[in-house]
Amino acid sequence: MSGGAGFLGSHLCEQLLAKGQHVLCVDNFFTGTRRNIEHLLDHKRFELLRHDVTHPLFVEVDEIFNLACPASPIHYKKDPVQTTKTSVIGAINMLGLAKRLKIKVLQTSTSEVYGDPSVHPQPESYWGNVNPIGPRSCYDEGKRCAETLFFDYHRQHRLRIKVARIFNTYGPHMRPDDGRVVSNFIVQALSGKPITIYGDGSQTRSFCFVDDLVDGLIRLMDSPDEVAGPVNLGNPGEFTMKQLAAEVLRLTGSSSPMEYRPLPADDPRQRQPDIGLAKKLLGWEPKIPLAQGLVSTVDYFARLQRT
Ligand code: NAD
Ligand code: UDP
Ligand code: UDP
Repeated sequence: MSGGAGFLGSHLCEQLLAKGQHVLCVDNFFTGTRRNIEHLLDHKRFELLRHDVTHPLFVEVDEIFNLACPASPIHYKKDPVQTTKTSVIGAINMLGLAKRLKIKVLQTSTSEVYGDPSVHPQPESYWGNVNPIGPRSCYDEGKRCAETLFFDYHRQHRLRIKVARIFNTYGPHMRPDDGRVVSNFIVQALSGKPITIYGDGSQTRSFCFVDDLVDGLIRLMDSPDEVAGPVNLGNPGEFTMKQLAAEVLRLTGSSSPMEYRPLPADDPRQRQPDIGLAKKLLGWEPKIPLAQGLVSTVDYFARLQRT
């Protein structure tokens, strides 16, 4: 697995080990941390390799989950050229590896391929509304190009591929300085700092708890070969950022004030997955509602603050 020391990757490592699989976790620690996988280092079926996927990788494995890529806007905008390189060259290298070994490869694509969507909720058939030259483009277009590469390796080399389009996911193992909205609000609420709402807070997102998402990724990898995707994975429960802030304040009992900041460029107005295809093909739907998932996420950050 590439990106295994990150937020989603570390949970996926745990679940694959729990299923009895061997895991080779490949990561360059750009946004991932050793802390996320420290508890796995002594596991006899777990191996860690520090490596940047923009360089070729020659190893022997049975399947590949490609997660390597910073996912938070503040991190992927910090070095945008490296972000596109990671998405595109990283995809080429993982596809080349899969082609040599004749194995399945799963790509963690994103709802960002839909951009600022004019179709709501977003089905997989929607082609998206993405700015090719804006500050988010390094991520959005990098991920779109990676999808193109996956489908061309599939058509041209008959490679078995799986493409998941992941919608906003949250949970333990996000970095306190990750910069995405759920971790920001929780960390701010727990430390009594102002809750930073970008824009007027009326934009929406649909938040999926990490355990549900990882279950969806494993089901997709284990699905029949003809299921290539793309398949949306996310929780259709849609909330405004103001509603999210209110829920976080309620759960933490915090009296942090709300502070309004400028909306970043090209910030999508609304986002909600149509998960009909995942239900049909994978028998998958999320089980953990936002209020429940937030409780364990708040617990995680509260514990982190105490250590
Ligand atoms: P994350 O930033 O926590 O994890 C990404 C991991 O990739 C980190 O461990 C990082 O160090 C590693 N990485 C980055 N560049 C690398 C490189 N060149 N070589 C090797 N490793 C590299 O993000 P995440 O939320 O865990 O996301 C994982 C994947 O899922 C990403 O590809 C992301 O685009 C995708 N995704 C996530 C979400 C979400 O809401 N979490 C939504 C859509 C898509
Ligand atoms: N690659 C890799 N590991 C492998 C096989 C290939 O990292 O086990 C890389 C290889 O360096 C190449 C990329 O994957 O840059 C694409 O490989 P492919 O065979 O598709 O293309 P080619 O080598 O013909 O350019
Ligand atoms: N956001 C916010 N305050 C923050 C961080 C983010 O209001 O401290 C907003 C952001 O502008 C966006 C939404 O929350 O509208 C989700 O942002 P995030 O970075 O988590 O994910 P993405 O924009 O990639 O969906």
